[in-house]
Amino acid sequence: MTDTSSPAPASSQAYARPERRLLPQPTAESAAFWTGGRDGKLLISHCRGCGHFFHPPGPVCWRCRSTDVGPEPVSGRATVATYTINRQPWIPGYPPPYVVAMVELADEPDVRLITNIVDIPLDEVRVGLEVEVFFEQWPAEPGPDDAPVWLPLFRPATATVGGAR
Ligand SMILES: [Zn+2]
Repeated sequence: MTDTSSPAPASSQAYARPERRLLPQPTAESAAFWTGGRDGKLLISHCRGCGHFFHPPGPVCWRCRSTDVGPEPVSGRATVATYTINRQPWIPGYPPPYVVAMVELADEPDVRLITNIVDIPLDEVRVGLEVEVFFEQWPAEPGPDDAPVWLPLFRPATATVGGAR
């Protein structure tokens, strides 16, 4: 099928924000996670009882049951644990194909986030790919009644620590 009226996103690796996304409804507990990007920080719930991060955010650490928990910044580096290439137009204004992935945070591998991997050709995404977070604010230009969120998205890491490559 040839459609010359629209660009071909499949052949382009440079990420452009979609016209529309499904947005989260932050709760008191998840607000830090969804708004940390305002300061460029990926804020993950951290337990001062056992010293581990956990996700999704909640009032109690699932490991040690401590309630001494709160959001703390992580490095934003992660590894692709699994992924799928969505080719279905599920979301109007968000044309496929795009990569939906589960990433494991470098700071705490059992903290896994569902996200998009962008700025990479689809056929180069693989399990084990090192990625880093960046944030996409929604809405881009909030009105007075909007409570914007910053979606954590991931792209290939620009540099490796320790020269692993
Ligand atoms: Zn704990």
